Amino acid sequence: MESQKKVIERLRTAFRSNVTVPLHFRLAQLEALLSLLEDNEAQILEALHKDLNKPKFEAVVSDIELVANELRYTICNLEAWLKPTYVSKTLPTKLDDCFVRREPLGVVLIIGAWNYPLQLILAPLVGAIAAGNCALLKPSEISQATEQLLSELIPKYLSQECYAVICGGAEETKSLLQNRFDHIFYTGSQAVARSILQAAAVHLTPVTLELGGKCPCLVYGHLDLKAAANRLVWAKFFNVGQSCVAPDYVLCTAEMRDKLIPLFVEALEAFYGPRINESADYGRIVTDRQWNRLMELLEKSQGKVVIGGEGVKEDKYIAPTVIVDVTESDALMQEEIFGPILPILTVESLEEGIRFINEREKPLALYVFSDQAQVVNTVLEQTSSGGFCSNDGIVHMTLPEMPFGGVGASGMGSYHGRWSFETFSHRRACMLRGWGLERLSVLRYPPYQESNLGW
Ligand code: NAD
Repeated sequence: MESQKKVIERLRTAFRSNVTVPLHFRLAQLEALLSLLEDNEAQILEALHKDLNKPKFEAVVSDIELVANELRYTICNLEAWLKPTYVSKTLPTKLDDCFVRREPLGVVLIIGAWNYPLQLILAPLVGAIAAGNCALLKPSEISQATEQLLSELIPKYLSQECYAVICGGAEETKSLLQNRFDHIFYTGSQAVARSILQAAAVHLTPVTLELGGKCPCLVYGHLDLKAAANRLVWAKFFNVGQSCVAPDYVLCTAEMRDKLIPLFVEALEAFYGPRINESADYGRIVTDRQWNRLMELLEKSQGKVVIGGEGVKEDKYIAPTVIVDVTESDALMQEEIFGPILPILTVESLEEGIRFINEREKPLALYVFSDQAQVVNTVLEQTSSGGFCSNDGIVHMTLPEMPFGGVGASGMGSYHGRWSFETFSHRRACMLRGWGLERLSVLRYPPYQESNLGW
C-alpha cells in the first residue's frame, strides 16, 4: 500500500501543476462525482444498510440526494462564483482595478464521521473540488462498508492525481495530521476536535470543525400538537437519533408534556407499526460500543421511561425511548445523546426555557415549536445556535443556500452550497495599479505635510 507521505506528495505535485484550476476540470470532476452516485446507488444503499441498517428512504434523502443536490447546485453556479467580486473604490484608488479573487487553498484533508458516512465525506468534497483544491479523504473507520466502498469508487471516478482516500481510525488519522495540509475539514466529536486543532496549530493550518452537542427543542404556547408530535418524532428517530442536528431534549411545561406523550405514542405506531424492531423503516445503533453507552445512560438516568426503553444487544436495537422527570443533573443531560432517547424536561415559562438554553454551550441547532410568531421570534432573538428552525427539525440543513455549521462549542466555519466553495477558497484582495496620478502620490511621500492628512 502506498504510504501516507507518498499519497500526500502525489496530491501536492498535482496541485502545483495547476491542473485543478480551470473551470472545465472542476466541472468534469463534479460531473464524475454525480455519475459515481448515479451508477452505484445499489452498492451505496447496501453499504449504508450494512453499517447502520439504514432504511432506503433515509439513505437516499440524507446521504445520496443531499450530495447530488449539492453537486447539481454547484455545477450550475460555479462559473458565476469564480468571477472576481469588484469592490467600491476611494478617491486615491479610482483608477485602479480593485477586486476579490477566489483561489484554491492547496491540498485539503477531509475527515468524516460515521452517522452519514457518505454525505459527510462527499458534501465537503464538492466544495473542495469546486474551489480548485486537491483533497485527501479520511472516512470513518466505524462505518466500514461505506469506507471501503468510497476507497474503491473515488479512484475509479475522480482524478487519482488530485483526490485520494485513506482508510483507518484514530492512529492513522493522528499520523496523517503530522503532515502539512492547507485546510482541515473535520466532522466529529468535540473531544477529538481538540486534538485536531492542536495538530493543525503546529502547521498553522486553518480548520473547519463540524461538531455536535445537545440540540434543544422548546415547545411552547399554542400549536398544532399532532403535527408537532409527528415532526418531532420524525426528526428525533430519523437514523435512530444518530444525527448531529437531532433534537437532543425537549423543554416544555408539565401540561404540554402530558399532552405530547400520547401523541408521541400515536406517531411512533403510525410510523413504525406495533413492533418497531420488525419495521424496515427503523435503523440500528452503529456499534456495540455505542449501544452499551446508550443503555448505560438509560440505566444511570433518574428519569422515568414512559415510551420504549428496551434494547436488544445482538441486534444493536434500541427502541424509540421517551423519558420524563429528567433534571439538569441527570446522566442524560451531561453529554450529547446521539441515539433514540428523548428526555423531556419541564420549565414553567418561556423565559425559564430560554435561560436553560443560554446557560449551556451554544448548540448546533435550536428548535422551537409554537404557533405564536412572538414566541418564535423571542427565542430566535434571545439565543444563539449554529442553525435555527421553527416547527420542524433537521430540514433547515437541506437548503444549499444556507450555511451549515456550528457556533462556539458546536463548531467553527460552515459549508453547503456556496458556503462550501468559500470555505475551501482563499479570498485574495487584488489591486491592479497603473502609473497614473503620480502627482497625487507626492502628497503621501515624506517629508510629510500635516496639511495633506485629509488626502
Ligand atoms: P469521532 O470524533 O470519534 O470520529 C470522527 C473522525 O475522527 C473519524 O474519521 C475518526 O477516525 C477520527 N478520529 C477518531 N479519533 C481520533 C483521534 N484521536 N485523532 C484523530 N482522529 C480521530 O466522531 P464520531 O463518533 O464519528 O461522530 C460523532 C460526533 O460527530 C457527534 O458528536 C456528532 O454530533 C458529530 N457530528 C457532527 C456533524 C456536523 O455536521 N456538525 C455531523 C455528524 C456528526
